[in-house]
Amino acid sequence: MDDWRDDALCRGFPQAWWFPEQGGQFRTALWICAACPSREPCLQFALDEKIVHGVWGGLTEAGRRSHRRKMAGRGRPEGKQPRPADEHQVI
Ligand code: SF4
Repeated sequence: MDDWRDDALCRGFPQAWWFPEQGGQFRTALWICAACPSREPCLQFALDEKIVHGVWGGLTEAGRRSHRRKMAGRGRPEGKQPRPADEHQVI
């Protein structure tokens, strides 16, 4: 079975590097992720599984949140972007 984990460049490096909350060297992790052939499926896995911690697919937790917001915005029909006030409107 073809699994993106088989080509993961992070294999062989200390796992803690991908977890800044564990004192990881996430800048090194991001650098390694940038060259990883499994970057896309890795990121998709983290998004699908709603993984909160660590660096996945070259994005930190904050980076994945931003990516999710961007992707959610793309799903809206053209010209139907909500104004900030609309999002908090009580019906
Ligand atoms: S993108 Fe980063 S975290 Fe994901 S498999 Fe590749 S090296 Fe590992």
